[in-house]
Amino acid sequence: MNIPEFKEFASASIDYIADYCENIRQLPVLPDVEPGYLSKALPKRAPEKGESWKTIMEDINKSIVPGLTQWHSPFFHAFFPTGQSYPAIVGELLMAGIGAVATKWESSPAVVELEVRVMDWLAKILGLPEEFLNCSEGPGGGLIQNAASDSTLVGILSGIYKKIQQLIDEGSPLLEWQIREKLVAYTSKESNSSVEKSGMIASVKMRLLSTDPEGSLRGPTLEDAIRNDKAAGLIPFCVVASLGTTGTCSMDNIKEIGQICSKEKLWLHIDAAYAGTAFACPEYRYILNGIENVDSFNFNPHKWMLVNGDCSAMWFRNCRYVEEAFKTKATLKVPKYQPEFEHMQIPDVRRFRALKLWFVIRIYGVDGIQKHVRRQVNLAKYLKELVDADPRFEVVISNLGVVCFRLLAEDSITQAILERITKRKNIYIMPYYFKSQLLFRFVVCSRFTLREDIDKSWNEISTQTSEVLKILGKKYCRNVERMCGSKGM
Ligand SMILES: *Cc1c(COP(=O)(O)O)cnc(C)c1O
Repeated sequence: MNIPEFKEFASASIDYIADYCENIRQLPVLPDVEPGYLSKALPKRAPEKGESWKTIMEDINKSIVPGLTQWHSPFFHAFFPTGQSYPAIVGELLMAGIGAVATKWESSPAVVELEVRVMDWLAKILGLPEEFLNCSEGPGGGLIQNAASDSTLVGILSGIYKKIQQLIDEGSPLLEWQIREKLVAYTSKESNSSVEKSGMIASVKMRLLSTDPEGSLRGPTLEDAIRNDKAAGLIPFCVVASLGTTGTCSMDNIKEIGQICSKEKLWLHIDAAYAGTAFACPEYRYILNGIENVDSFNFNPHKWMLVNGDCSAMWFRNCRYVEEAFKTKATLKVPKYQPEFEHMQIPDVRRFRALKLWFVIRIYGVDGIQKHVRRQVNLAKYLKELVDADPRFEVVISNLGVVCFRLLAEDSITQAILERITKRKNIYIMPYYFKSQLLFRFVVCSRFTLREDIDKSWNEISTQTSEVLKILGKKYCRNVERMCGSKGM
């Protein structure tokens, strides 16, 4: 491909993206394809001779688009938002065009230094403590990781290193491998599955603790678990707390947890993958009460902060532990520049991801990011009002852009309604089991979502509920009425 062809292909792609965003509301949110549809449509072998980009773009329309779930449709209310915005798209493009990667500062100074500065901006936007900043006097700092999952793993590995060092320094009679096999970490049953997985990868026991009725992990539960494990001869070393659990966006009580971690010398890692963006708004910073005892903190600008993936921000109160934990024989030279990001992550090199973060922060401004959060939270509050006004339903938990509600009837009816809604493909909403109750889990995801889109989505839920209740007959309706009675309607 030569330069004129590249320019043509690239401008056609930009036009394509602009049209895609403009028409997102009209696209079906869920695809209508069967498993294996694409392997039937595509040739079994790669082409012998190169093809024209126009042919490929035709295939995008013919074969790819029909198989897409439209994550940016205003009727997409499943999972969590995935970041996308015009400045971030251009940032991705320039990152690919420049094509630089970095390990040490020498390998590409701008790649490293922009990340250092932008991560400090971001920490200040969220109101994180001074000690987390790269520019602080102390050993703290932050960098971009691939995902919340790797950040959790890196946090756990740092905690393992710190605990082993501590015990050795205290003159423990145990050998390192004997310490390792006794290590135990804690998280809640509501935390993301990646936390349990990180424990498996790190080869440590991970206890999944019960939460309070709000889905929050509390101090006394943690204290009990630590006491039992210590009595059994195990070595507690780490807690992974969630600020914004994946199911209900519940907040663990990091004030209570942090005090215990400080007393017991446990590493405290915070997973705020989705909800972290909300801390850009001062009115949500009360949730960070207790951050003074946090060792590492992570959130995903690639979820709610309009940055395309991957872009997961992670800070350490003290980078020394992760750097020591990840140091190899090849890396024992005196560094020319700190922090040394390559010793704080799992991959060897890093891409120029700071570029898209820089673009988003500069083009939206802090004010634009705050407006985005408040607008989406208000849309979620609006949905909550609609649910509250319907006597058949009850809101169970609602936090930030997430609203979890239930039908006042057996789970089997909720199941039937959700199946029907999914089959109709007008909106995408997911079930969530919370404290053994089946809930509708509704998330305001797309940055394109308007109030009238919420009306349409609610209308779909409401009318399909009526349809299912009609089909399932009087017996269930009576049941619903009786339960509504108990709600005082
Ligand atoms: C989405 C989510 C994750 C996983 O994020 P990745 O960046 O895909 O690893 C982890 N924790 C929480 C709380 C999440 O919501």
